[in-house]
Amino acid sequence: MKKTALPLILFLAVLSTAALGQNQPFNPKHAHYLWPTEASNYLTSTFGETRSAHFHAALDIKTWGQRGYEVYATRDGIVDRIAIGPNGYGKVVYLKHPDGSSSIYDHLLSFNKELQQIADSLRFASDYQFEIDRSVGWKNIKVEQGDIIGYSGASGIGPPHLHFELRTPSGKPFNPLLTNLKVKDTISPQIQALSIEPLSAWTSIEGNNGIYKQRVWGKKEHYDFGTIQVTGPIGLGINAFDQSNRVYNSYAVYELSMSVDGQELFKSRVDSFSYNETDQMFIDRVYTLLENEGDGYQRLYTADGNTLPFYSKDRGKLNLKPGIHKVTIRTSDYYGNTTTAALKLDVKTPKTEYANTGTLQFSTKSNSAPPHRWNWFQNWVMLSEEQFGKLTIGTQDTSSFIRHDNGIAVSLAQSDNLYLDIPGMSPVNIERIRPDDWNIISSADYQNFAIFPKATVYDTVSIGLSVKNLGKNSITLDTFPEVYPLNGTYSFYIERKPELQDTAKLSFYKYDREDKEWALIPTDFRKNFIVGKAESLGSFALKRDTAPPQLSNVQLVKRPDDQWLVMVDVQDNLSGIDYARTKMWVNGVRGIAEFKPEDDRFVYYHPNFQPSNTLKVEIKTYDKAGNRINEVFRIKTSSKK
Ligand SMILES: [Zn+2]
Repeated sequence: MKKTALPLILFLAVLSTAALGQNQPFNPKHAHYLWPTEASNYLTSTFGETRSAHFHAALDIKTWGQRGYEVYATRDGIVDRIAIGPNGYGKVVYLKHPDGSSSIYDHLLSFNKELQQIADSLRFASDYQFEIDRSVGWKNIKVEQGDIIGYSGASGIGPPHLHFELRTPSGKPFNPLLTNLKVKDTISPQIQALSIEPLSAWTSIEGNNGIYKQRVWGKKEHYDFGTIQVTGPIGLGINAFDQSNRVYNSYAVYELSMSVDGQELFKSRVDSFSYNETDQMFIDRVYTLLENEGDGYQRLYTADGNTLPFYSKDRGKLNLKPGIHKVTIRTSDYYGNTTTAALKLDVKTPKTEYANTGTLQFSTKSNSAPPHRWNWFQNWVMLSEEQFGKLTIGTQDTSSFIRHDNGIAVSLAQSDNLYLDIPGMSPVNIERIRPDDWNIISSADYQNFAIFPKATVYDTVSIGLSVKNLGKNSITLDTFPEVYPLNGTYSFYIERKPELQDTAKLSFYKYDREDKEWALIPTDFRKNFIVGKAESLGSFALKRDTAPPQLSNVQLVKRPDDQWLVMVDVQDNLSGIDYARTKMWVNGVRGIAEFKPEDDRFVYYHPNFQPSNTLKVEIKTYDKAGNRINEVFRIKTSSKK
């Protein structure tokens, strides 16, 4: 189980338990580390920044948009592991040091000669596969501090840079700035905006129940957000970034604290975390704003379910007595450069007004927004008066409907399920999902259901399932709201109607609203059900992909380390490239088909490849629906050599 009852673990405590059984607990200050590259002494990212689904576990070192800089072993050690793959970290070297800690170097262009030969022979020996991840510690390949272990690149995801990660002996990433490694930073963080989240259905912020935001502009040492009127429990958040000297990159801040009336109620400091907690980034930030607007507001309170070791104070949720309260927010970078912000909370006594359910009006026009676009919170949903008036809600308890200036907060916590009849849409069933149990929710007609295993949600929330099944192969469904982050995989079971016989190349896809693309998800056709597995809530549809990938634009290129390569662009209309099944030959010699998903490109790699005047390039590849293409290109290269 991920849950622990100890959210207030201090960093040193984490490190000493990590080294349990050794005489000396691991301490990042006890060893000398060498800066791991000649590229620069500047960072593009710091430890603990927000990534799409986790915290950044390393320093990213600037390589000026270039590839091919020398990368050095930061300390003596042995090569523990090497990995090559298309996603995430690309080409990676893991070193293990004598104290059991490790250092990791990612996105490399290539390894040093010895390691590259090992990686190549491992790949050739396993049917020319592109991807490997192997422990090689048993080979006892020694490196000394300062030895070249590879060259910086842009393999995996992202522009060229060196991702440099340090881990404790128990494998927890820690902030490399905790060692003797330093960057020049005399610039204090900059605050961009304040957020206030309502933490109950009867909370109101300036009259509204919704996430309040206030932006500030410019670089200041001190910001003032003025006086804000609130009623009921709230949680503050801040959108801030740090900068360092002479480069324009923006970084995560290192420390955050919040005091109310002179008393510190929240403090966080990002020194270390464990890999099984890293997706709690979703609840460390204001997820709704991250999901809808892409902005990383850091919560100045710890949400339920948060077990990260960053926090050393109270949980920071504010439920203040009526009157004026002074709030001070402080944010610092690793070198102690500090920026503060102040605000006053004018806390009013609650006077809750319940909305009357009475007779609800029905509109024959269906102009209400679909449920995934409603304003969802963990324990209630906020509807406009107009939306509310068009619904039939399956509860009679008027205390479930609380009136605010911006609409009606419909409580979800009072009942285990809630039935909504929305004109123009199929009826919707919303059920409470608990992290400590298996949960099943069904569609309103009981023909379809979804299963959420234990710990799929961080905290108890309400999730709805709505299915439109027109029989043959036209099925669309929604699980909502998308503003709830998930911590694991759930399955939905959609009724398979008898007329659906031909399931070849058919699969469920999830709609990505940001990229406006459909992404294939695992789908299983059973006798009575079609089962889909998903890791997030959203909109899904059954789709058939019958078109093979398309290949084009064959090019001969020379890498910064003088290695010749052949590149071929590849596109697929729907299901995506099944890169692991790809084979490539140049002049009849099979090489490794490396895949760059960001560039939609295959790269032919063979360590001995030298171009001739004409090249015959043969590629065989598939998409994920099994559609195959086999193509031969002939190119003249004489002008390029
Ligand atoms: Zn990185």
